[in-house]
Amino acid sequence: MKVLKFGGTSVANANNISLVKNIIADQETDKVIVVVSALGGITDLLLKTAALAAAQDITYKINLKEIEDRHLTAIKELIPILSQSKMLSKVKSELNILETLLEGAFLIGEITPKLSDKIVSYGELLSSYIISEYFIAEGLDIVHIDSREVIKTNLVLGKTSVNYELTNNNCKKVVENNGNKVLVVGGFIASSINGDSTTLGRGGSDYTAAIFANAINAEVLEIWTDVSGMYTANPKIVKQAMAIPHISYEEAMELSHFGAKVLYPPSIQPVLSKGISILVKNTFEPNAPGTLITKNQNGKGKTVRGISHVEDIALLSLEGSGMVGIPGISKRFFEVLSNAGISVVLITQASSEHSICIGISNQDTDKAVAVIAEAFDYEISRGKIKPVIAEKDLSIIALVGDNMKSHQGLSGKMFSTLGKNNVNIRAIAQGASERNISAVIQKSDVKKALNSLHEVFFEENVKQLNLFVMGVGNVGAKFLDQIQQQKKYLKEKLKLNIRVIGMSNSRTMIFEEEGISLKHWEEALAQGEKADMPRFFDRVKQLNYRNSIFVDNTASEAVSRTYHSYLENSISVVTCNKIACSSEFGNYQQLKDLARKYNAPFLFETNVGAGLPIIDTLKHMVASGDKILKIQAVLSGSLNFVFNHFNDTTTFHDVVLQAQQEGYTEPDPKIDLSGVDVMRKILILARESGNELDMEDIGNQPFLPQKSLETTNNTDFFRTLREHEDMFQEMYRKAVEADSKLKYVAQFEEGKASVALRNIAKGHDFYNLEGSDNIVLFYTERYPNQPMIIKGAGAGADVTASGIFADIIRIGR
Ligand code: ADP
Ligand code: ASP
Ligand code: MG
Repeated sequence: MKVLKFGGTSVANANNISLVKNIIADQETDKVIVVVSALGGITDLLLKTAALAAAQDITYKINLKEIEDRHLTAIKELIPILSQSKMLSKVKSELNILETLLEGAFLIGEITPKLSDKIVSYGELLSSYIISEYFIAEGLDIVHIDSREVIKTNLVLGKTSVNYELTNNNCKKVVENNGNKVLVVGGFIASSINGDSTTLGRGGSDYTAAIFANAINAEVLEIWTDVSGMYTANPKIVKQAMAIPHISYEEAMELSHFGAKVLYPPSIQPVLSKGISILVKNTFEPNAPGTLITKNQNGKGKTVRGISHVEDIALLSLEGSGMVGIPGISKRFFEVLSNAGISVVLITQASSEHSICIGISNQDTDKAVAVIAEAFDYEISRGKIKPVIAEKDLSIIALVGDNMKSHQGLSGKMFSTLGKNNVNIRAIAQGASERNISAVIQKSDVKKALNSLHEVFFEENVKQLNLFVMGVGNVGAKFLDQIQQQKKYLKEKLKLNIRVIGMSNSRTMIFEEEGISLKHWEEALAQGEKADMPRFFDRVKQLNYRNSIFVDNTASEAVSRTYHSYLENSISVVTCNKIACSSEFGNYQQLKDLARKYNAPFLFETNVGAGLPIIDTLKHMVASGDKILKIQAVLSGSLNFVFNHFNDTTTFHDVVLQAQQEGYTEPDPKIDLSGVDVMRKILILARESGNELDMEDIGNQPFLPQKSLETTNNTDFFRTLREHEDMFQEMYRKAVEADSKLKYVAQFEEGKASVALRNIAKGHDFYNLEGSDNIVLFYTERYPNQPMIIKGAGAGADVTASGIFADIIRIGR
């Protein structure tokens, strides 16, 4: 004998109900009991309607109409027209009674638990009736059982509990009385000894099925739902979650107790006592193996089997010196809560006995605070115990697994993962069985916490990086191309999965939680919402993804001023924008401190020499104890391009224009030609070598005429270049005469930095620098005479993009 239970989604509409029929028709066992939930969403709707009626809100009638429509539509779609009228009138007459009940609540302006149970029971009453009639119409040999006549409940301490003696007898009797017919039973609903409708708690259809399975010694209890089993985490929140093939009763119980809604926790007890296995299956994918729940798991030594979470938790803490060494305080505390019918989800007690902290359901908070205040009134009034403190809107996350007890380091890994992702932990509990470790966290951190823990415990090899890209011009667009190209390689070889979740240019911005398609981002971005920097940040923060990285591909000062906010929220920053690192020293220092404090890397390799590994190398030298004595460098790819192309057959003006057009200069070429850009770079290198310097400390003898320096726009700037062509030609001629080449050189030595255009004589390391190449000579204690040299293309969108990419990979690893 088998018991099959179909949940709300499985019977949500005619189409789904027909899938259920196929599953029943395929059963090979001769005796099957089918337990069904209300049509998906109807229980919620009934409760909402009742609440509206009790609040004397007439709109409850709109909901009632929707409830009616859902059921009538199902009948019309499932049943042949000729057989419909009998059913339509039966359902309508039931709905009339429901309407009368709601009217009563509306008139009195109140609803009792008894009335609420009666109202909500209509969900399963109607669904089981309609499904039974449909099965009959389809030729199945079935009988509809009213579960209120079978499952009997008592009221214990204000809570409904099953009277197993009566119930088991009733179950056996209906099975005996109905030969080999398939029994179709509404789940969730029951009745008291007096015959009043009662319910078994939200999700209680699972329980109905378990009660039947237990009473008739079923060979298996099958829970058919909308996912393919019990997953390593809620698959709606963790996309990478996987169905667990085989799990123990205890593990399943812990997971469901801590929020894995796929199984209602009380359902396990009745089958566990008889050793009946549970199989969780997917109505929409009946061939998927699902999850088998039995006495022993077959986890092949795996420690953590699943991660679950419960929302809407409140923490209550009772503390005070009066608790130390006094026996019985905890006993009284728990007794008070239990007498008030409040269940405790989690308990922690400091070993000093100075405080007890418990987690309860949000909705019980006010009641709990009141009964505790009353019970400890004497101690509180004498100052021995402090008034109880309640903190609402928290969540519990729990790691679950039978084998966790024999392994060290799991909680360390759990808490360090949460810490690294900036998830604040409010309380911790570990069950004595060591089958679960749970932590109380902010509700807004749940998604990030689950995903980070899932990554660490179940996907150990693939790390997800979530990018938010600001600026998709030359460099930005190349960067996106490169990610798109390398995606597969990174996943396979480096175990990194890179997704761009948000992007913005100065006009529009878009977000896509699953990752923006990098093939068609241009169209999508053009249709995005209006760009807005503060709102961009708010979205990134609110999405609260682990391993979030903000990528700045702009040259904007305003964008550089937002880095603090990102870092303070543990969002890493990767930037090719030099403004932040060359701003006042205090700001640079603060950004580096924030990065350390919030464990969010702040990387800017491309600030000097585009994709060349200059800053990274410098960092490693300093970190390994080397001392930088002198830096000599040609750091402007733009100026190098200009002076490599400028001679007596070209004009300075044309060469600069060409450099600008080919993307070798900043959008405002004066930043390069005035030396400001090189000043920024040598400043950053000096700072990274451990010196406290500012822009005004850097010597700069500009080679541009004063008039060019004074211009405020590109048109004027280029005009002055044309006007001074003679002067530029003169510079060139002098260099040739001295058998030299013009190079713009930056230098740092003995705490002093300077930049200048110099004649570089033949034979010097800088003389043969081609195109837009950069070169850096590091003279250090370990490289005193022969400097360490880094040389290569130091400008251009492609190499800059690859430098940003390298920073992203550094973070990933
Ligand atoms: P039914 O209506 O079939 O009883 P429920 O909505 O009660 O279905 O339970 C199934 C849902 O449980 C899934 O859709 C999923 O969102 C949720 N869920 C939460 N945690 C888990 C988990 N660990 N494994 C599978 N499902 C889970
Ligand atoms: N219909 C009830 C609920 O939604 C019972 C169930 O579906 O298990 O809670
Ligand atoms: Mg359910």
